Amino acid sequence: MDDARPQPREHILIAPTTDQWRLLDVQGVDTRLDQIAHRERHLPEHAEIASLEQRAAALRDELVGAQTRASDVQRELTKAEADVEQVRARAARDQARLAAGQGGHKELESLQHEITTLAKRQSDLEDVELEVMERLDAATSDVERVTGERDELGAALDDAVGRRDAALADLAAERQKLQRERAGMIAGLDAGLLALYEKIRESSGTGAAMLRARRCEGCHMELNPQDLQRIRAAADDEVVRCEECRRILVRTGESGL
Ligand SMILES: [Zn+2]
Repeated sequence: MDDARPQPREHILIAPTTDQWRLLDVQGVDTRLDQIAHRERHLPEHAEIASLEQRAAALRDELVGAQTRASDVQRELTKAEADVEQVRARAARDQARLAAGQGGHKELESLQHEITTLAKRQSDLEDVELEVMERLDAATSDVERVTGERDELGAALDDAVGRRDAALADLAAERQKLQRERAGMIAGLDAGLLALYEKIRESSGTGAAMLRARRCEGCHMELNPQDLQRIRAAADDEVVRCEECRRILVRTGESGL
């Protein structure tokens, strides 16, 4: 038998009125438990952390790129320095030979010519070296900038994770407290009534609603005169249900019957 479908009238569930009233308190606690679960899923920190993690991943890639560029330029600089050094060493050797004055006039003249050429070459290579050094400076500051951003982001992420965990811990503590309250409420509650309540709750989220001023507080529909008449005629301990939403309808002094 499926309780979500209209029941034949002869299946009448009987439960003490006080149990029916207590069921509204249980529903109140269950509603708060549902709100806690909803809050847990929709903490603003979840979206914040996801977006920070996305940026962190992008920054990690950016940092790898910047570090690769810096080490490439560093290699270029080592090469440029070696080139300058090589020319400088050769010029120094030529200078020494020139100073020693060894060799014939033609030889010394060619040496002098080479020294001039090497000086020009060294100057060109030093320009290259300077240009590479400037690029290395830029690449190094890129690495520093991205590293700084990564560290800042890491701190923001730690902060958000801390806030999320604190919020989750608060909600978990509240849930525990409510679950203890609930256990006390359902102890000794009519088993048939509780089973029906749980079954309806499973399918619609709310198992019991108060009938207040002729209106079902579950679906907010005003009961029609025939249903009101039927409910008026029902015994106090008969469990009645809303014809619209099939929730257990609990009658109180405010029901307007
Ligand atoms: Zn209803």
